Amino acid sequence: MTQIIDGKQISKQIKDELKDKVSKYKSEGTEISMAVIMVGNDPASAVYVNNKKKACEYIGIRSLSYELPEETTEAELLELIDKLNNDPSVNGILVQLPVPKHIDDNKIIRAISPLKDVDGFHTQNVGSLCIGEKGFVSCTPAGIIQLLKRSGIEIAGKECVVIGRSNIVGKPMALLLLQENATVTVCHSKTKDLKEVTKRADILVVAIGKPKMITSEYVKDGAVVIDVGIHRNENNQLCGDVDYDDVYEKCSYITPVPGGVGPMTIAMLMNNCVESVALQMSE
Ligand code: NAD
Repeated sequence: MTQIIDGKQISKQIKDELKDKVSKYKSEGTEISMAVIMVGNDPASAVYVNNKKKACEYIGIRSLSYELPEETTEAELLELIDKLNNDPSVNGILVQLPVPKHIDDNKIIRAISPLKDVDGFHTQNVGSLCIGEKGFVSCTPAGIIQLLKRSGIEIAGKECVVIGRSNIVGKPMALLLLQENATVTVCHSKTKDLKEVTKRADILVVAIGKPKMITSEYVKDGAVVIDVGIHRNENNQLCGDVDYDDVYEKCSYITPVPGGVGPMTIAMLMNNCVESVALQMSE
């Protein structure tokens, strides 16, 4: 019988745990705040930013909103980041990506203090993850580890295949699974015989960005299938990179879209923000 991994419920559990931590911090006189910066008015970004602000409110984190016009220059954005880096009352800084084309996103990510980089994108945090040191971890893959652990799925010793090698999902995902003692294979657009590789997976993480590409032919009987993709189909309904209906019967566990990985990303962002306090205190 296939089990559906309920990301909504698990993310709520995490947010409730964080709410308790935040209220404990408050009772000790520490308020946590996160600066959320959005440049331009991309409608999808506006939805994400709004959801992040709502999550902050739920948990008790103060969110400082910076909604900057599309014409904002790179220098102006860097200046704001510098100001927030040096403001001790700001714990986390998040710049909603993508930024307009005239701004170099890598330069922006590198400008955020690694101690306030709650997205976990700064090269210093990526390096820390690589060598197993403390630091912020990219939220989506960190959320997937929580989905697996909180569903009682053993990772150590398992064959894990990650499809996708992006800096924000695929690569950190592979590193986290390795840290959990899995045997990890990373596939990408140049992988030959993708099906042959994915059919070895006990745990298959799919982050390709192609709607419903992964059908049952790619999946081993009894595998755990984690779908990171988010798309709108021709009927304007959300779907993932996995053909859910086709794969469902074949796997032991599966994440739905929506309600699987998606809600975990925000929960882990909140987690990073709460963790930032201890990280900043230890400096
Ligand atoms: P990306 O476009 O940066 O990377 C896609 C990866 O897939 C690349 O590494 C590429 O090599 C690989 N790929 C492309 N075509 C392939 C093929 N035919 N066979 C094998 N590999 C192939 O995307 P991303 O940022 O990693 O995101 C992946 C998906 O996850 C997107 O749908 C995105 O919207 C979604 N996403 C969801 C969340 C969430 O919170 N749920 C967060 C981030 C991304």
